[in-house]
Amino acid sequence: MNRRPARPKAYAPDPAAPGRCCDMPSCGAPGGYRAPKSRTNLKDYWWFCLDHVRAYNGSWDYYKGMSPAQMEAQLRADTSWDRPSWPLGHIGGSAWDDDMLRDPLRILASNGMHQQRRAPPPNQPPAELRDHLAILDLSWPTTLEAVKTRYKALAKRHHPDANGGSRAAEERLKTINLAYAAVRSHLATEPRLAATG
Ligand SMILES: [Zn+2]
Repeated sequence: MNRRPARPKAYAPDPAAPGRCCDMPSCGAPGGYRAPKSRTNLKDYWWFCLDHVRAYNGSWDYYKGMSPAQMEAQLRADTSWDRPSWPLGHIGGSAWDDDMLRDPLRILASNGMHQQRRAPPPNQPPAELRDHLAILDLSWPTTLEAVKTRYKALAKRHHPDANGGSRAAEERLKTINLAYAAVRSHLATEPRLAATG
């Protein structure tokens, strides 16, 4: 049994998985899927459940360098509006206590990320975007993708046609349009600022 077993399907759990829970702090699912922590360190893995490894792989550029807690906070911020929240697994509220957030699995203490993780991430948006983000009900940092999704939903909800031709709805939609344009152009010109803080 020295040979590593082949993976039968693309999305079958990795047979070499260490049998622990998904590295997302509040996810209680088995962490059967590996994801390299960075491009330069492809032998060091997070272990995620299928949902979380898909989210991670689909957003590699955005999530690289973030801890699972930061990724999860971002996922929740992006998905909590008008859509079901990211599944929280089975740990419950205790997953969010300070120790869990600091270093839930003691996986960061050894690789130099611990110090960075203890301080809250510098998530202050640029001052000129604060009001616009509030109008769009978005937290910071955010992504172009999240802003577009949010805008589409808001535009649909506040469209005058959906509100009996209401003037108030028309005014709200104008405000939303302005906020969207401002945030979008900021992200388009400085795409990495939002992700790296
Ligand atoms: Zn998970």
